Amino acid sequence: MGGHMQPQAGPMKPEGVKAIIAIGSGKGGVGKSTVSSNLAVALARAGKKVGLLDADIHGPSQPRMFGITKRPASPDGKTIEPLHAHGVTLMSVGAMLPEEKAVIWRGPMLMGALQQMLMQVAWGPLDVLLIDLPPGTGDVQLTLGQKSQLAGAIVVSTPQDVALLDAKKALDAFATLKVPVLGLIENMAVFTCPHCGKDSHIFGHGGVAAEAERLSLPLLAQLPIDLDTRVSGDAGTPVALGDGLMAEAYAKLADRFIR
Ligand code: ADP
Repeated sequence: MGGHMQPQAGPMKPEGVKAIIAIGSGKGGVGKSTVSSNLAVALARAGKKVGLLDADIHGPSQPRMFGITKRPASPDGKTIEPLHAHGVTLMSVGAMLPEEKAVIWRGPMLMGALQQMLMQVAWGPLDVLLIDLPPGTGDVQLTLGQKSQLAGAIVVSTPQDVALLDAKKALDAFATLKVPVLGLIENMAVFTCPHCGKDSHIFGHGGVAAEAERLSLPLLAQLPIDLDTRVSGDAGTPVALGDGLMAEAYAKLADRFIR
């Protein structure tokens, strides 16, 4: 990890984890979890020891995206053994609940669960722990921002105005919490027709790049709307595991965090 991402002192950071990077978005459904899973896989393929904490408590999707149906075990009743798939060490509240069960937790319970997932999971030595945040600017962001040692955050948005508007709020929240934003990722930037090759900007064009420029933040990637990304995500084998253009794009993105 680069020098600018050195974690500061603070209470919540698992031992042996070099850097924690949170991945957030303003709105749901913009592909934050998809980007998180693929970035994790790409970092693992680049030889990094990677963990992924699915903190999207209200819509945990990482177990499905990693094809995991097993539940985490706790043989000693104290530490929780994380799950492993595609070279990534994984923990998700979704792995502890039946898939269809909605989570309605009160703030303190939520924070307890979050703290437990962060501190009681035997993450082992990791170069980086990615945290897939819930969308928006709620309790999870606040707790992690205040109580854990985040090296930084990445914000994912589509070019759509409503998504961007909410992404700006998320950026604002990170600024208030003094969490350095490492950059923006524009997802679903363009759709290239597989039949005629024509580009369509279904969710608009250029908004995320303009916002990155306005805030002097890096635009880390512009990722297209891609059928394989959706299909392989649903199948539990992230597209970054393959050898196509998307895997290349994620390898390039991962490269930006390896120096
Ligand atoms: P979020 O975590 O922001 O709620 P998800 O990662 O769950 O969003 O993505 C929402 C849906 O969009 C999923 O079905 C996912 O497979 C799909 N998706 C995400 N990114 C892309 C993309 N670049 N191309 C095609 N489908 C995508």
